[in-house]
Amino acid sequence: TSYHKVLEENRILYNQVQDLKGAIRVYCRVKPFSPGQSNAQSTVDYIGEDGNIMIVNPQKQGKEARKVFSFNKVFPTNVTQEQIYADTQPLVRSVLDGYNVCIFAYGQTGSGKTYTMSGPDLMSEETWGVNYRALRDLFHISKERAEAIKYEVGVQMIEIYNEQVRDLLVSDVPVSCTQDVLDLMRIGQKNRAVGATALNERSSRSHSVLTVHVRGKDLVSNSILKGCLHLVDLAGSERVDKSEAVGERLKEAQHINKSLSALGDVISALAQKSPHIPYRNSKLTQVLQDSLGGHAKTLMFVHINPEVNALGETISTLKFAERVACIELGAAQSNK
Ligand code: ADP
Repeated sequence: TSYHKVLEENRILYNQVQDLKGAIRVYCRVKPFSPGQSNAQSTVDYIGEDGNIMIVNPQKQGKEARKVFSFNKVFPTNVTQEQIYADTQPLVRSVLDGYNVCIFAYGQTGSGKTYTMSGPDLMSEETWGVNYRALRDLFHISKERAEAIKYEVGVQMIEIYNEQVRDLLVSDVPVSCTQDVLDLMRIGQKNRAVGATALNERSSRSHSVLTVHVRGKDLVSNSILKGCLHLVDLAGSERVDKSEAVGERLKEAQHINKSLSALGDVISALAQKSPHIPYRNSKLTQVLQDSLGGHAKTLMFVHINPEVNALGETISTLKFAERVACIELGAAQSNK
């Protein structure tokens, strides 16, 4: 019967999920050069199937010039949006079994965070990012399980700018199909633009959090399960030259630095199983507190731009990512 099919699916999923629980996964994605940049020099020397990436500094010679970083996975530049999602899918599906999941996009402005999470064009399903694919999947599976479990799905969209949280919708809005979500995203984007001089500028300096709440009622046992998925497009991680930034720009930069380092501190404290997790140090970590740590699962997509003039940011992005992944550089280098 369909109920038994669901139980069997759940059992398989449960085993997959046990592997992921508590672990913090870090995936690295390298932005491809655009067709006009075919002769451009790349700082990415090598991408291994084992999760290693080698960065080269064209201005240095010998051993000094190369640095290896290790992650759970490094995607080749020609990876499709579908392949990116395929690796994320088990985490998303576990939300329907009552797990809390956080998926982050980290990297400097222009490195492809929004491309990964939203995609370049809402009208084209083929290039949809993780957000829409995740919701489409959640609706699809909840329909498949409809005879056994009755699900309700709600979404919330917030922006965190200068340590202020702004609700871009009217709190939690019930949704039942992907079209509902697309309509809401448009409203959210419009609301985000209000009061901002330029949306692009504003969006690179604020964190955007799309939260999906799932409530399922088991029609046989009447028990209720609750799961939650946070899809987070973080503010650009670039360091701002303190001598040049003044006024608003300096304030924004300080808030972004504070919240990204607070996030790094929380994730690395979790990875080290530290007794104190410093959630209260930023709005971002407060908002996500229930979905970071404990039984929750975290995935971070780290983005880099391979252009030579982005080298400094690329190195600091990869260092941050290794800190949250808690992987020792020495171990990776000894493989080479
Ligand atoms: P961010 O959100 O980090 O500021 P974007 O996602 O806006 O960066 O990407 C910057 C530009 O690069 C956009 O024009 C985007 O379409 C393009 N881009 C990013 N990643 C890819 C990719 N994987 N393939 C093709 N174009 C990409």
